[in-house]
Amino acid sequence: MDDAPCAHIAAIETVKGPRKRVCEECVKIGAQWVHLRTCQNCGVTLCCDSSPNRHASGHARQSKHPVIASAQPGERWLYCYPDDTMADY
Ligand SMILES: [Zn+2]
Ligand SMILES: [Zn+2]
Ligand SMILES: [Zn+2]
Repeated sequence: MDDAPCAHIAAIETVKGPRKRVCEECVKIGAQWVHLRTCQNCGVTLCCDSSPNRHASGHARQSKHPVIASAQPGERWLYCYPDDTMADY
């Protein structure tokens, strides 16, 4: 990726999209979510920090998978948790 703000985002060649537009953890527990994010390491789609369960940031901390992409229709951006930086693609 050109002019990436950090090494994690620079390492991404192909942005992973959501397999399904659901939070894969919220559906297991019957919870609601606000927005969806897709992990760029393993491709899991989870909910954002505006959602009650914040599964995406929990996954990033536990799995040490730094970068997520928005899984919202029409949004094309990446976010790196450890560096707190965003990049459009
Ligand atoms: Zn980074
Ligand atoms: Zn969730
Ligand atoms: Zn992951």
